[in-house]
Amino acid sequence: MTAPVSIRNATKIFGDFTALDDISLEIAAGEYIVLLGPSGCGKTTLLSLLGGFLSPSSGTIEINGKDMGDVAPAKRPTTTMFQDYALFPHMSLRDNVAFGLKMRKVGKSERHAKAEELLDMVGLKTSANKKPHELSGGQRQRVALARALAVEPDVLLLDEPLGALDLKLRRQMQDELKAIQKRVGTTFVHVTHDQEEAMAIADRIVVMNAGRIEDVGSPENIYMQPKTIFTASFMGEVNFIPGTFESATDSTISVKTPLGTVELPEFECRGFTPGASVTLAIRPEHFRASTGTGSRITLGKAKVEDGSFFGTHHRAHLSPLDYPNMTITAHMPQSAIIEPGAWVELTLDPTSVVVLHGHPPRPTP
Ligand code: ATP
Repeated sequence: MTAPVSIRNATKIFGDFTALDDISLEIAAGEYIVLLGPSGCGKTTLLSLLGGFLSPSSGTIEINGKDMGDVAPAKRPTTTMFQDYALFPHMSLRDNVAFGLKMRKVGKSERHAKAEELLDMVGLKTSANKKPHELSGGQRQRVALARALAVEPDVLLLDEPLGALDLKLRRQMQDELKAIQKRVGTTFVHVTHDQEEAMAIADRIVVMNAGRIEDVGSPENIYMQPKTIFTASFMGEVNFIPGTFESATDSTISVKTPLGTVELPEFECRGFTPGASVTLAIRPEHFRASTGTGSRITLGKAKVEDGSFFGTHHRAHLSPLDYPNMTITAHMPQSAIIEPGAWVELTLDPTSVVVLHGHPPRPTP
């Protein structure tokens, strides 16, 4: 079972505080959507509007083309899976999973068969008679997922579903959640503040900030082509180089920076005007700090301040000769020898640079 969701101009006000400010979002049937953002940005509030635990102050929510305005949570085609799983401790896993079906007056043999089918799907077929306390955190999470899916919701709402798990298990469960969602085809809306989790799982990520949607797109799109300074920095480590927009032709734009004027190719010009303040956003892995420049553009010489080995690469802090107050974070090849005080040539793949409106609140950390 699956359904599309339309959120139109949804606003939620608590007293004089606007928790959600004019949110509009179309979710396709069977899509895995992740709502991502820092604590307090409104993710849980938006999930609660979908589940019917809160009503919007204005705006509408439609599921499968039907306005949910007057529909109580239990009557919605949604199920919410909370972070604490809320399993019944005295019940077997089979009875936990079958609970929602029992409430719907489904007969015992049918609901047990359904529960066992779902326990099989989440890899707990042989544990149906166990109680929740006999399980690990990851296994409890799987039971909660099986229980949420047992009532065949059109839309499953997951609030920080992996928040209680340690990092390794979290990464493993991300893969499992994604695989199970693809198998059942249910629309999933999943809340997290972990950008790696969002990238690992989502078909589309909705980046939220201070009650608004900041950016929406595939993980690749959000990481490689963020639309705002907030998204660029929230999605991972990034260097911000402040600049001034100079000019554009059909195929290039020119940005003046403290490290010289940079010509960038084939840029989708987002309404920049000459003289406007802009920021170049460059991921550390898009820098090269080497002795050869090849066909890349160069930002001049830079001094190695320090470096750390990360297995797949070194992460180095560099200070450019032309602007020593700036710190650039760059990834250098695994085989590189990083010596503090050494001079390197700082080069860049121009196609990887993103040009953003405005300047960041603070210089590059
Ligand atoms: P977290 O990741 O910490 O759970 P979140 O992004 O899910 O954060 P919400 O729980 O949606 O954030 O809360 C958004 C804002 O709305 C917060 O500032 C919160 O204090 C406020 N808020 C949420 N519920 C209420 C309420 N019932 N009354 C007043 N303010 C509320």
